[in-house]
Amino acid sequence: MLYGLIIMNNLKSTWIVSTLLIVILFLFTVYPSTDAFVNVPDPFQQIFRILLFIAILSLMIFILTEMNNWYKRCRMLTKSSDQHSGEKENAVNAIGLHYKIDTSENYKQLVHILTDIIYSSLMAQSVFIYLFNPDEKRYILQENRCSHKSKPLPSFSAEGELFSNYHFDAKPELYQASQIGPDYLKYYQNSPKIGTLMLAPVNVNGFYVGFIGTDSVDKESWGKEDLDLLVAFAELFGNAVLQIDVVDQQENYIRFFKDLFRLNTETSLGIEPHELYKQAASILKKYFSFDKLTFAFLNRDQSSELTIEYVEGSEADYTIGHEISIHKGVWEPLIKEKLPVLIRDYDKSNVEFRFQPEDLKIIPFQSAIGIPVSPSSREGGGILMESFKTDNYTKQDVNTLALFGRNFTEILNRLTVYQSMKDLAMIDGLTGIYNHRAFKERLQIEIERSRRYNTSLTLLILDLDKFKRINDTYGHLNGDYVLKKCANIIRGSVRTVDTVARYGGEEFAVILINSDKKSCLNTAERICKNIHTFLFEKDGMTEHMSVSIGMSEYPGDGDNLQSLISSADMAMYRAKRAGGNQVMLYEKES
Ligand code: GH3
Ligand code: MG
Ligand code: MG
Repeated sequence: MLYGLIIMNNLKSTWIVSTLLIVILFLFTVYPSTDAFVNVPDPFQQIFRILLFIAILSLMIFILTEMNNWYKRCRMLTKSSDQHSGEKENAVNAIGLHYKIDTSENYKQLVHILTDIIYSSLMAQSVFIYLFNPDEKRYILQENRCSHKSKPLPSFSAEGELFSNYHFDAKPELYQASQIGPDYLKYYQNSPKIGTLMLAPVNVNGFYVGFIGTDSVDKESWGKEDLDLLVAFAELFGNAVLQIDVVDQQENYIRFFKDLFRLNTETSLGIEPHELYKQAASILKKYFSFDKLTFAFLNRDQSSELTIEYVEGSEADYTIGHEISIHKGVWEPLIKEKLPVLIRDYDKSNVEFRFQPEDLKIIPFQSAIGIPVSPSSREGGGILMESFKTDNYTKQDVNTLALFGRNFTEILNRLTVYQSMKDLAMIDGLTGIYNHRAFKERLQIEIERSRRYNTSLTLLILDLDKFKRINDTYGHLNGDYVLKKCANIIRGSVRTVDTVARYGGEEFAVILINSDKKSCLNTAERICKNIHTFLFEKDGMTEHMSVSIGMSEYPGDGDNLQSLISSADMAMYRAKRAGGNQVMLYEKES
């Protein structure tokens, strides 16, 4: 029995028995030789000893059993958490706020729970929640619960005796059977027998968005208190929808900030402007609705006209490259005052036109939102979104877009700084034309372009004749002056699309694109003549210079960078050997 008591896994009784035994044992072991125990006969002493043994044994069994139970409990716990992890996730979704947010799931659960509660608390025949879709002008069923076969329609148009009135003057209504005409039951395909009908409007943020309805088969089954209850449910629903909407917005903001951060940190410094605009537009598209998106900047030279540099959406009117006036148009505040623009309705605004006078008559844009973007490289510019709907944008949208604009301006500034640094690294400090590195980069690019389009290009290598003499006679400053002047002369003798570079000390290179060496011979000879006829005068120096020019062409004289340069070099040395001040074309046998 004692053992039975111990293994019954009853903590309390086990403790009592064990403690009792320990007390007895204590008395037995501590006081055996005291006077109180001196007369205790041996058999009793034996019993005490056996009890001691049992006590120790039971204590050990107790400890082992407890350990076993503890182990089992741990295993059960881990098992159950494994099993219920899916359910837990759903619960978290329903709570929504701190963890994984799934607003559509939240909304579904909300309408589901709400219809269930109304259904059971009002003992209704059916409960239905309809929200109004202003675009379609229809009521859309969100959720329903019915005890009869006839189900509410997925949607119905907001017209007819009840709904056309109700829509404009929505208030709680209780209809008894006699008042309910067929038009009142528009939401049913085949309406069942209805004794009482209640409707309560749902308002979100003070705006009517739909209604909750419930009907009963019995006549006069509901009174004013029941209507009040339905109204309370409708209010609760309105508030909850607003909360969900807020969560939805927050989630949107988080995504927006993430995208903005990515654009800020991951944009490559060498990105082409068009590509950058495209990436920016793809972010804007996610968070704003527009029918036309325009990026425009002031012309570098003429500050009263904007050039459109990127467009997305409707391209029926203005596209990339169009120049637009800013005076009195929608762009004026963006450019002149560098202020955001919010036009809820073009017709009611004091803006006279969008981009050019009378253009609102051609394409009926209704609303617009715009922010200034003025990077250091441009006098001004902006991003404008337009919509065919009125009231498509809010003040909140302006703030969000303005934040985007500031980030975008920063990115443009960074690109400008990088571009000018890059330009500096490519330019020869003395002459202001491309340096050796830039020349090679450009030549490589031009060779690839010619290969792609199957065209030819010509390379000139120029070396000043007896230049060392200038340094030796007049000093290095005069030598520098001659080099600078020669660079100017060469630059002025070719087209702007051609590349002029300083190849080395007193050597230059010119890349003439889309032409073979025969048709470039004139240009080369012009350079030769222009240098020779120029009078270099500085600090007592009055000198004429001459140059030896070698020409090679792609692909005939070399189909890659090295071979093309070495062919032109060989031709240049031939010109030099022939006495200088002349042009030589590369010839294979030379
Ligand atoms: P050749 O007719 O054979 O071409 O004779 P050259 O004197 O023009 O050629 P050489 O290669 O003997 O001399 C080139 C000189 O150019 C040597 C160098 O001092 C000078 N030089 C190179 N870079 C600069 C520079 O930046 N400034 C000045 N002042 N002189 C330079
Ligand atoms: Mg030289
Ligand atoms: Mg020389």
